[in-house]
This record gives sequence, C-alpha cells and structure tokens, in this order.
Amino acid sequence: MNKTRNVLKYRSVALYFLFSSIIALFLGSLTNSLVLTIMGSTLLIIYILISLVFWRCPFCKKRLPMRFNIKNVDEVICPYCNANLLYNEEKKQP
Ligand SMILES: [Zn+2]
Repeated sequence: MNKTRNVLKYRSVALYFLFSSIIALFLGSLTNSLVLTIMGSTLLIIYILISLVFWRCPFCKKRLPMRFNIKNVDEVICPYCNANLLYNEEKKQP
C-alpha cells in the first residue's frame, strides 16, 4: 500500500468519526443525554486529532483543508502542489 492510499484511508476513518459524532451529538441534544453528548464530543476530538496528524499531502507535506466535496470524497487535489491524491499523481510545478 502506498503513502497516498494510507492518507485517504485515514481520511475515511476520520470521516466515520465525524459522522458518528454528529449523530451522537444530535441524539444527545434531542434526548438530553449527557452520555451521548460526551460520546459525541470525544468522537469529534478523535476526528480532529486524526485529521491534524494524518491529513497531509504525501508529496509536499502541507496540511490539507478540512472541507471536502461530498459528491466525490476520494477525489482530493492538494491546493499547494496540485497533486491528485486519488490517482497518486504528482503535478510538476510550471
Ligand atoms: Zn501537496
């Protein structure tokens, strides 16, 4: 498995934590459940930590933006060096 695939794998794992935390926080506020609120906050913190540590461009090592295209989550283009992470393509600087 190459470095680019690893980055995308961590990204999808992080997104699972994000979506789980949103669901837990939403249910927590609906039911006034402290346990769900704490669980949701913990999942959100894990998402942020995974993103900060692993969500970097494998080519230029810069931190990638948190936002993503919901229709095409895997298609990630580095805003700094224009590398396409999905196809493992490093774009040459002009
Ligand atoms: Zn880059």
